[in-house]
Amino acid sequence: MSVLSREYFHNEAAAFEHVESILWPGGPVCPHCGCMGRVYKLEGVYTKPSKKNPEGVERHGLKKCGECRKQFTVRIGTIFEESHIPLHKWLQAIHLMCSSKKGISSNQLHRVLEITLKSAWFLSHRIREAMREGNLGPIGGNGKIVEADETYFGKKSGPAPTMTTSGKPFTKSGKTGPAHKRAVLGLVERGGAVRTFHVEKANTDNVAQLVTENVHHESALYTDESRLYTKVGARFADHQTTKHSAKEYVRYEGDAVIHSNTIENYFSVFKRGMKGVYQHCAEKHLHRYLAEFDFRYNRRIGLGVDDNARAFEALVGVLGKRLTYRRTHAV
Ligand SMILES: [Zn+2]
Repeated sequence: MSVLSREYFHNEAAAFEHVESILWPGGPVCPHCGCMGRVYKLEGVYTKPSKKNPEGVERHGLKKCGECRKQFTVRIGTIFEESHIPLHKWLQAIHLMCSSKKGISSNQLHRVLEITLKSAWFLSHRIREAMREGNLGPIGGNGKIVEADETYFGKKSGPAPTMTTSGKPFTKSGKTGPAHKRAVLGLVERGGAVRTFHVEKANTDNVAQLVTENVHHESALYTDESRLYTKVGARFADHQTTKHSAKEYVRYEGDAVIHSNTIENYFSVFKRGMKGVYQHCAEKHLHRYLAEFDFRYNRRIGLGVDDNARAFEALVGVLGKRLTYRRTHAV
């Protein structure tokens, strides 16, 4: 037996039962009228015969509401709605995305699940949406340490930087600097959760706003010597910096170990995943990939969350995250 031999990864009826047990712990709820209790199972219902399936396909998990008389399945109102991919393949995809530290590419999902590349791309973006955490309270708190840092990754979309007559980008010493790269701000509580943001530009104003909104003011803030944090640092119980330009990466002061290596390690996992697995990512989708890496980091094994528990949490997140193909492109 292995994890992959679980019934719900292979059997459509079992897949429905699994998702129902997570989304409807108290029994089926009608998505049309909110009724509970008076819901009946409809068994042995088949879709209309088609060329591909002359017998029709069995409609698993079909229910009928005794109150409003409408039919529904657990897919309604979730990322699974309006998808032709069988639910057991969705569960396989969720498990793969939750258990691979650096993610899994659409190309690989396309090959492993035997679905089209287009379907695989769509499915993985919807799973990322399920992993996106809503508005949460600030991280850190009294006696807690929060590390903040920013990183630059991938080229920004939009027109290329102006070239000089020699053909080099018109930037300092001809190098393409951070100004042409996508900026990501990361905040991590030591031994706790991470939160990352794709920002148009990392400047004092937007960095200060994100740090203030997302970090509890009683926390100690640890950063590098970047001026981005000087002013906002004063709003916290303590602000310590390490001087990376002078090759100082860790400093010991009494019991305090001052560094921002935790957030830098997070960025390195993110970058290795993005380069090695995803390779290309449009700037408009970057926030979704960040949500995926945040989700896994915040449910890491070091916090006692194993692959199954992580997949369970991703399933809890499928509710209310409907995303149509068109909107995925527009966002
Ligand atoms: Zn109803």
